[in-house]
Amino acid sequence: MADPWRISLHGGHSGEFCEHAEGTLRGVVEAAVAAGFATFGLSEHAPRGQDRFLYSSERQKGFTTGRLQTDFDAYVAEARALAAEFSDRIQILVGFEAEVVPAASYADEMSAIREKYALEYMVGSVHYVGEIQIDGTIEEFQAAGAASGGIESLAVCYYDTVAEMVARLRPEVVGHLDLIRRNAPVRADLQTTAIAAAADRALQSVKESGAILDLNTAGWRKGLDNAYPEPWLIRRAHELGIGFCFGDDSHAPAQVGDGIDRAREYLLELDVTSIRSLDRRQGGVVSTVVRLS
Ligand SMILES: [Zn+2]
Ligand SMILES: [Zn+2]
Repeated sequence: MADPWRISLHGGHSGEFCEHAEGTLRGVVEAAVAAGFATFGLSEHAPRGQDRFLYSSERQKGFTTGRLQTDFDAYVAEARALAAEFSDRIQILVGFEAEVVPAASYADEMSAIREKYALEYMVGSVHYVGEIQIDGTIEEFQAAGAASGGIESLAVCYYDTVAEMVARLRPEVVGHLDLIRRNAPVRADLQTTAIAAAADRALQSVKESGAILDLNTAGWRKGLDNAYPEPWLIRRAHELGIGFCFGDDSHAPAQVGDGIDRAREYLLELDVTSIRSLDRRQGGVVSTVVRLS
């Protein structure tokens, strides 16, 4: 039987619908059933509508914004079909991962995507600061740092963008809260007084919106010391009464469930004894509490 706490609300990217993922969405869902998930949320990336936001890897393969759009159409159709087909074995939620680009209009664009496809939930993520990607290449990260005036101001800008995104989009889940660590130099201090104050503003925004924080296991997969977020942020969020969920951020069937057992231990060590899930009800999803033991 599925463990009630074995839940992921961020991931399920597949090579069918995402240029930097592998395998099929069916393969992802089958892997989630095999791993004993009670609920598995699919959060494919929102299609970017402007060429300047295409990844270099997408450009090399000839991807266009039109291709991203048709892939997303196909993703929603396939995800819905699989959710129905597997509904006796697992709760599959059909959501998406929102972007903060274009800076001037993302709030309207992301709300329009959500509405157009009647998506069940949103993962709000910040992958760009000042419209420069911070989880792509090191060169892009350095360009983002240079544009912000250094690593500390980049991190402050990053958390302020999270705070603004949460207030504007009101996502059900906030993705990988400290993604700014991903490409930062190993010795960079990302907990200075100014950064911690900005992170606190982001957390206050999360608390105010009622969003759930994604305990995202990709940090381990990327070779970082900790999952996202780090312990100091978990302690602060927990103090504020913010709930957590797990996210395997899977980009292939083989990554489904990756790190979830370790993530449970990680939260328990920090005295977080329950997580939150999203459950489908008539009229939408509701947030529910699930004990970790
Ligand atoms: Zn991705
Ligand atoms: Zn992400």
